[in-house]
Amino acid sequence: MSKFLTIIQAWGTAMFHTEQQKQLAENRSKICDKCPSLQEVDVKSITGSLVNNFFQCGACGCPIAAKVYTSPDVPKEQKCPQGKWEL
Ligand code: SF4
Repeated sequence: MSKFLTIIQAWGTAMFHTEQQKQLAENRSKICDKCPSLQEVDVKSITGSLVNNFFQCGACGCPIAAKVYTSPDVPKEQKCPQGKWEL
């Protein structure tokens, strides 16, 4: 599966997930929260308060809210690009 399809699938899982998928995403989020590659994307200054700022992985550019829901079954290069996640 391409990186693009992987993140689309992850968005779907972020919206409709099992408790197990949620737990995995929360564990990954804790790792991302401490990672120096985590970047806040400032969209508020462009849109006013219409859209909130969001966080992305500075290493791959993916939005973290979806990235952490990446399936554990995809190739490891489509997960954390720095190999910081266990699954
Ligand atoms: S996905 Fe990996 S490299 Fe990216 S912010 Fe999270 S821990 Fe850091």
